Amino acid sequence: MDKRIKAGVLGATGMVGQNFLRLLSKHPWFEVVHLAASANSAGKKYSDAVAGRWHMREDIPEEFRNMVVEDAGKIEKATGKCNIVFSAVEMDKQAIMALEADYAAKGFVVVSNNSAHRHTEDVPVLIPEINADHLNIIPAQQKNHGWSQGFIVVKPNCSIQSYMLPVYALMKAGYPVDKMIVTTLQALSGAGYPGPAAIDLVDNIVPFISGEEEKSEVEPKKIFGKIKNGKFVDDESIKISAHCNRVAVTDGHTACVSLQFAGKKPEMDEIINIWQNFTALPQELKLPSAPIPPMVYRIEANRPQPQKDRNTGGGMTVTVGRLRKCNVFDYRFIGLHHNTIRGAAGGAVLIAELLKAKGLVK
Ligand code: NAP
Repeated sequence: MDKRIKAGVLGATGMVGQNFLRLLSKHPWFEVVHLAASANSAGKKYSDAVAGRWHMREDIPEEFRNMVVEDAGKIEKATGKCNIVFSAVEMDKQAIMALEADYAAKGFVVVSNNSAHRHTEDVPVLIPEINADHLNIIPAQQKNHGWSQGFIVVKPNCSIQSYMLPVYALMKAGYPVDKMIVTTLQALSGAGYPGPAAIDLVDNIVPFISGEEEKSEVEPKKIFGKIKNGKFVDDESIKISAHCNRVAVTDGHTACVSLQFAGKKPEMDEIINIWQNFTALPQELKLPSAPIPPMVYRIEANRPQPQKDRNTGGGMTVTVGRLRKCNVFDYRFIGLHHNTIRGAAGGAVLIAELLKAKGLVK
């Protein structure tokens, strides 16, 4: 008998949902047994529900082709089948908040890709290499809502992963950061399918992504924050100014970062050494999706590049390069990550693996 933990995917027919299925097919710890989407897809075989809109390069994994898609709103369809759900539904934010809370109330562990609960004061926004200790809030979250078994954990916005690991590694090594200016060059896949019209993107850059700059500036404060009296208190010590741009790259978000340290500043070779030797709990626990190493520093003057570097570590490694002195702040560098893997489904799968390793999902 398959002893893997039974899992469901809500929004399984969408772009992120398809990525979940791709990453969870043959996963050593999780077996996807429940697929759910909107009422339009409910009752259809998965292969019929995604006919003409399967966006992955690989074919639909065989084990999902004939699975019947359920209505994500009918939670009873998942009850008894699985105890963890990955959420990737595209709905009104209030509706997503209510749906995810309903699943948690019914005893499900919810690992969400959506932004809806990122500001909920007792819901952790997790990058497992950085703030695994934020899982300590779960008993308080359950108590606050009267949930006995279920809870919600979310992953952050895909715009921030290119700079969060490099900055955290420096903070952990004793060099707190005071302020940063971040300019992101974000891939088309981050907008979902079909995304912006081709005519707006070919030979062009769009200097606006709705809500993205706010998320890029605010979410790091929660991730670096602390738990106090059963809720998160943001770390206000770091100030970020973000410019977010949509560029004609299929996958891979780039961030150009200038940063200033709060106190003493390390030498350039020390920074590179810190980045190259950075490792964290997911690597120590040998979580199946944890990239080793979590960060790579490229010495070439023209790297990182989306085409060449986004798939490093199966799309889970953050690639950093072009560290140099800054004429205004202390240093500048370029970070890059795969937005639909580390920045979306892969980041959420890594969270679920951490939950399993900590005995929080069985
Ligand atoms: P998408 O391709 O539009 O897919 C949306 C999914 O939600 C589909 O499975 C759809 O089912 C389902 N859905 C829509 N209305 C529903 C309803 N009323 N009840 C239940 N399910 C419903 O969207 P996506 O790009 O995968 O994004 C999913 C979520 O992830 C969004 O919240 C998005 O903001 C977030 N996100 C996306 C990315 C990215 O790279 N694309 C990155 C980070 C976060 P049907 O097929 O039946 O309509």
